[in-house]
Amino acid sequence: MTTAYLALDQGTTSTRAAVFDTSGCLICLAQKEFKQIFPQDGWVEHDLEEIWQTCIEVIAEATAEARRQGHKVKAMGITNQRETTCIWNRGTGIPVYNAIVWQDRRTSVFCGELSSAGHETFVSERSGLLIDPYFSASKVRWILDNVPGARQQAERGDLAFGTIETFLIWRLTGGKFHLTDATNAARTSLFDIRSGQWDRGLCELFDVPEAILGEVRDCTNIDVDTSVLEGDQLKILSSIGDQQSAAVGQACFEPGDIKSTYGTGGFLMLNTGDLLVRSSNRLVSTIGLQVGGTRTYALEGSIFVAGAVVQWLRDGMGLIKHASETSVRAQKSGDDELYMVPAFTGLGAPWWVPEARGAVFGITRDTGPNDFIKAALDSVAYQTCDLFDALACDGVTPKAVRVDGGMATNDWFLQRLSDLLDLTVERPSVTETTAVGVAMLAALADGVFSDLRDIGKNWQLEAKFQSTMNLEVRRQLKSGWGKAIERTKLRL
Ligand code: ADP
Repeated sequence: MTTAYLALDQGTTSTRAAVFDTSGCLICLAQKEFKQIFPQDGWVEHDLEEIWQTCIEVIAEATAEARRQGHKVKAMGITNQRETTCIWNRGTGIPVYNAIVWQDRRTSVFCGELSSAGHETFVSERSGLLIDPYFSASKVRWILDNVPGARQQAERGDLAFGTIETFLIWRLTGGKFHLTDATNAARTSLFDIRSGQWDRGLCELFDVPEAILGEVRDCTNIDVDTSVLEGDQLKILSSIGDQQSAAVGQACFEPGDIKSTYGTGGFLMLNTGDLLVRSSNRLVSTIGLQVGGTRTYALEGSIFVAGAVVQWLRDGMGLIKHASETSVRAQKSGDDELYMVPAFTGLGAPWWVPEARGAVFGITRDTGPNDFIKAALDSVAYQTCDLFDALACDGVTPKAVRVDGGMATNDWFLQRLSDLLDLTVERPSVTETTAVGVAMLAALADGVFSDLRDIGKNWQLEAKFQSTMNLEVRRQLKSGWGKAIERTKLRL
């Protein structure tokens, strides 16, 4: 039997368990989708019991399949949708409210008040983040203020807060461990990324009692035993936020390395090494990785709606049956003047306008479904351009970007991305980069690799896209997008 490592990848729309061998090759994958709950405009929740069930089921399915294929799953790692906020009772393990998902905008008024009161600098100096409903802190406050009795229970120490990995570690260890890793802690807006500690000042600003916070460990120093799985109990050796895990899976280990992941949202991450680089263009600074007590910092840009716009074409508009159709359908459209700004839940980086909502510009009598599909894919490429333009203003001009996530299977989209960015776009042979990242960190923690570079040797290029677009055409297209963004920001 060969040794393998399992990644539990708890994403925004589905939970996956993927088993990899030590060269990073995928052995098997189990996946389950779960319900998206939209109680009001701009609100997004997940049922934590349903998420928990999907986790148990996919772990059981993937370990059984790996065993059937002759592999022994030695240990596991957890990677997760970040910022999504969970609060549960320490005694019963029962959540006091649904998880409030990273996309949720219900705290935008409160965040606006904090910004207007001049707290931006204080928050960004310590947390590296901006004040926005996206990050966990204002969501924690909302639950404590809106669930009857929750604040008093939290102050008494009866409640625990965590992002998804913390909730899962708690459940998987039968309530023995309340802990997180530095990359996930860095997304809460309660954590000082300079010192690597929870920050009292931030907790006070967001009205979050320190008693609900857990312990923070290195990504490769989780080291706890599960006790509730069917059959063999696995050790959890690693934990890391999904975007940071994708950066590991993309072997972005050197300062200057950059990856962009296109799942539900789109996430660009630039490795800045041991330097905590501050953006002057509203990108956030965060912890990319923490191994052996050493923090690697990153600059990040988050697009709230990437693949979600394709889901909307399918489920909301009924324009397509499968996401994969978009490639051929977009190719059939020659319309470069239709702009769609999918600000369904506000605009993320570098604009940060939580109250903005989606808009389409340039509809004519000839506009048809294929044009809408093309404009939707274009919108993700243009949003990426905005992030690269922000990076360029900060003095960073990468030569290539490594891409992954569901949308990265779409060749038309990647060619368009390369054309609009004027950059080489690289797709790796293992597209499950988020899962492979945390699995390889578990293997690192287990002594399989000597260091991160050793993991990086597994990365292989599958396809490369290079720009063929004329400079003037690019300039005109981007200028049209810029106008569409300005008008969307105004909101009706
Ligand atoms: P997540 O981890 O956020 O759930 P995934 O990485 O699994 O996301 O990607 C799923 C997203 O990618 C969906 O929103 C889907 O619409 C989109 N997607 C999948 N395949 C394609 C495709 N061929 N073209 C465009 N979008 C796609």
